[in-house]
Amino acid sequence: MYAVGLSGGIGSGKSTVADLLVEFGAVLIDADQVARDIVEKGRPVLAALVERFGTTILDADGHLDRLALAQVTFGDSEALAALNALTHPAIGIEMIELRAKQEQNDVILVFAVPLLREEHRAMLRFDTIVVVDCPTQLALERLVNHRGMDQGDAERRIAAQMSRDDRKALADRVIDNGGDLAQLEKATTDLWEWLNEHRVAAGGQPRG
Ligand code: ATP
Repeated sequence: MYAVGLSGGIGSGKSTVADLLVEFGAVLIDADQVARDIVEKGRPVLAALVERFGTTILDADGHLDRLALAQVTFGDSEALAALNALTHPAIGIEMIELRAKQEQNDVILVFAVPLLREEHRAMLRFDTIVVVDCPTQLALERLVNHRGMDQGDAERRIAAQMSRDDRKALADRVIDNGGDLAQLEKATTDLWEWLNEHRVAAGGQPRG
């Protein structure tokens, strides 16, 4: 197995790259999906969240009500820190377990991690880190025009995240998504070849 950490700022195009890599044959572990899985009804993290924030964060069926949770943590740094402390370790453990299940398989395993930090490299034993990058103004336009996100909301989210330079400094390879979708597909095709060369160099089988 060859493990890849994939990140990028909000609206940078990382989901588009991840989807293409899956089409080419990669196995994807999506941190956002894992974050949803660990708070499913019956999971211990949900019980811990209810203990901290009360039953107002549950809907009538006992599932997590994300909007209610966002409301109780909004603008409250202590509540937000508590939420992160209760969820982040569980997300990490789940991802380590998902990685272990693929350990013996000769695959390219892509971890899509929006808030990737250097410590994840050792924690998830990434062989490489790939960052999708695009100019901030372009990410903003894509979020507003393609996703229908409110302009102010998109600006606030972009301002709250790591800078482009800090994120790119984590990367072994940067995918430039400053062009059109055809250019992104070409860059991702090249990335797939590059990843396969590294997988084979690390002991994987060449594919015909
Ligand atoms: P988020 O962090 O919000 O999940 P993301 O980094 O995963 O964002 P995508 O969802 O891949 O970003 O892309 C954001 C939007 O921009 C999508 O609607 C996508 O189709 C579009 N998009 C991505 N790259 C390009 C491009 N090169 N040209 C035009 N549109 C693009």
